Amino acid sequence: MRITRLSIRDFRNIRELELEPWDGVNIIYGNNAQGKTNLVEAVYLLTGQKSFRQTREGDLVRFGQPRGEIAARFFCQGREQEARLTLEGGKRAASLNGLPAAVGELTGRFFAVVFSPTELSLIKDGPSQRRAFLDGAISQVMPRYVRTLADLTRVIFQRNSLLSDMIRNPSLDEALLEVWDRSLARLSYSIINARCRYLARLDPFAREIYRGISGGKEELSLKYQCSIPGEWGRLGEAEGEARILEALAGSRRDDLKNGYTTLGPHRDDLELLVDGISARAYGSQGQQRSCALTLKLAECRVIREVAGEDPVILLDDVLSELDKTRRDYFLSGLMPGQLFITCCDRAGFGSVREGVTWRIKEGALAGKRRLAKRPARGEPPGQPPRPPTKEKTA
Ligand code: ATP
Ligand code: MG
Repeated sequence: MRITRLSIRDFRNIRELELEPWDGVNIIYGNNAQGKTNLVEAVYLLTGQKSFRQTREGDLVRFGQPRGEIAARFFCQGREQEARLTLEGGKRAASLNGLPAAVGELTGRFFAVVFSPTELSLIKDGPSQRRAFLDGAISQVMPRYVRTLADLTRVIFQRNSLLSDMIRNPSLDEALLEVWDRSLARLSYSIINARCRYLARLDPFAREIYRGISGGKEELSLKYQCSIPGEWGRLGEAEGEARILEALAGSRRDDLKNGYTTLGPHRDDLELLVDGISARAYGSQGQQRSCALTLKLAECRVIREVAGEDPVILLDDVLSELDKTRRDYFLSGLMPGQLFITCCDRAGFGSVREGVTWRIKEGALAGKRRLAKRPARGEPPGQPPRPPTKEKTA
């Protein structure tokens, strides 16, 4: 998919911005604090997911303004479409192709994958980051997953409240927990199963990409680490739910002692192994960065496989962190799909074969420049520049 027009109003420090992006590489450059990440964040929010920044909803609207708006015309699934997001009073509202829609309906209709400097924490930090990666990635290709996940969070919250009440009041009947255990088993099975099935799709792409990044020297493998032992991904629903119920019964003493649910998908992890060794515990900085990059690139491949669309790729300030080989991978035009790349200056874009650069200053765009097409190695010189593709609307 690709964005043909982007309009932003009163979002963060952006008062009003209109952009007709290039089909391929779009470079947004400018000094610190000018609005580069804000622009990337605005595009990402059109996926219907939460921001990749730790932020409060109310902070998204430009200070002093009542509401903000992000809209994009985009070409996806063979036709021109339009997504719109309105931010007001700490809440979001959406519309899709002119009709009001739940914000979650944008998920699975508008695809984007973001790479930002915080991505290293995906490998280095605790399991919650990796669960968030998995959950976000699954949601884009399986939008109903979002609902199951929200139900799971609610059930765990209620079960935990009951556990705390039981600690305070030991006369409460333990049988009360069984109602929550049954709901928890059903939802946990759905989530674990979806995560394992997603990983089975992601793993071959991740292996291939990592092999390429490491020059064929290292092998990456992904493993779902479930807090409840079992052949997950292969167990049927009834058997899986029974296994979870059994595990919950086994951990009840611990749960009652701690006042929270100690087993379940909210405690699971995704393990990344480089040549069989944990990248989190033993990986070098470079290996960890390669792993993070690989996960995101593999996510793009799964979106393409499932939805038949290449997501919009948002590279926020990460290019300077990559070595030349990895940087060229993005800039050479070999990467399918539309790219938005932010950076402080335009230096270092020698390998961009064609694209457009914009300067951003105080939340406004200026100085659009076309990067002329230069011949790739082995290609005869003097080819005409590639015009932006114009597909017919359905
Ligand atoms: P860097 O190169 O340092 O990453 P950047 O260009 O990516 O900078 P942004 O993160 O996009 O900068 O932020 C630009 C400015 O937006 C910041 O100075 C920030 O204070 C401001 N900002 C954030 N939220 C709001 C808001 N709700 N209203 C107005 N300005 C805001
Ligand atoms: Mg930034």
